[in-house]
Amino acid sequence: MRYAPVCLITTLLAVMPAQAQDRDFSKVEVKAIPVAGSVHMLTGAGGNIGASAGPDGILIVDDQFAPLADRIKQALAGINPGKLKFILNTHYHGDHTGANPAFGKDATIIAQQNVRTRLMTPQTLFGEVRPALPAEAWPVITFDQSVSVHFNGEEVRVVHFPSGHTDGDSVVFFNGSNVVHMGDLFFNGMFPFIDSDHGGDVKGYIADVDAIAKQLPPGAKIIPGHGPLAGAAELAAFQRMLHETSRIVGERIKAGKSVDECKKLGLPDEWKSWSTDFISTEKWVETLHKGLSATVQ
Ligand SMILES: [Zn+2]
Repeated sequence: MRYAPVCLITTLLAVMPAQAQDRDFSKVEVKAIPVAGSVHMLTGAGGNIGASAGPDGILIVDDQFAPLADRIKQALAGINPGKLKFILNTHYHGDHTGANPAFGKDATIIAQQNVRTRLMTPQTLFGEVRPALPAEAWPVITFDQSVSVHFNGEEVRVVHFPSGHTDGDSVVFFNGSNVVHMGDLFFNGMFPFIDSDHGGDVKGYIADVDAIAKQLPPGAKIIPGHGPLAGAAELAAFQRMLHETSRIVGERIKAGKSVDECKKLGLPDEWKSWSTDFISTEKWVETLHKGLSATVQ
C-alpha cells in the first residue's frame, strides 16, 4: 500500500471545507473527465464540479475555491472554447462557492434562495467566522423549489431538497445527458458531513437521499459532491450505509446509551472504509446520536 498516504491526503483535501486562505493550493491540479452527453466532471480540491459544454457555451455546477479559478478556467477551455455563462451553486459551503467572486462578474449565478442569504452574511462553521462574499459572488437568480435552465439542447433542472446537508441544497438533473449532480447530498464511499447549524438534519438528509434515489432515471451517471463519479449502485450503497448506521445508533439511543458510549461502541467493520479524517466513525456516530436523539423514543 505504498500509495496509501497520498490517497489519504487527497481524500482529506477533497473533503475539508476549510477556509481557502488557510490552505496551500499550489499543487492542486484541476482535471476534467467526460461523464455523458455534454457533461464533464472536474476534480481539484473541494466539491466536484459538473460542466455542461456545447454550442451555447459553458454552464458549471459549483466552483471549488477562489485560488483555483484560473485552473478551472483552463480545464474548461480544454473541453470547449465557449463562454462560461451560468454557475449553479448546490449549497453555500466555501468548497463549492469559493470561485464565485472570480466568475460572478461575467457569468450568471443561480441558487436556492437560502444560499444567497447565507453567502451575503457571515457564517460560523467549525467555530470560525466565514465572512460574507462580495456582491459579485451572490446568486442573481434565486428560486424556492426548482428552476430550469435550457442550455446546450437539454433541460438542466435544479431542484431544492429541504433540511438535508444544509437548508439550501439543490440537485441538478441534466435531463438529456442523463447525469445528476447531487452536491453534498452524496458523499460517495464516505460518511457525510451534515451541517446541522445551518439547516442540515440527519433524518431530512436520509429522506432526501431516498427521494433522489427513487427519481433517479435508469442508467443515470451521478456526480457526487465528494468522491469518485458514481451510478445507481454506489448511491444504493450510500443509502444502505445511512439506513444501517442510523438503525444501529437509533437502537442504542433507545437502550439509553449516551453519545460517549455510542462512540466507544463504534460501528461494525463493514463501515470502516467509510471513515475519513474529516468525518471519522466517531464523528459520524456523534452526528447520528445528536440528530436522532430528539425523535427516538
Ligand atoms: Zn458541503
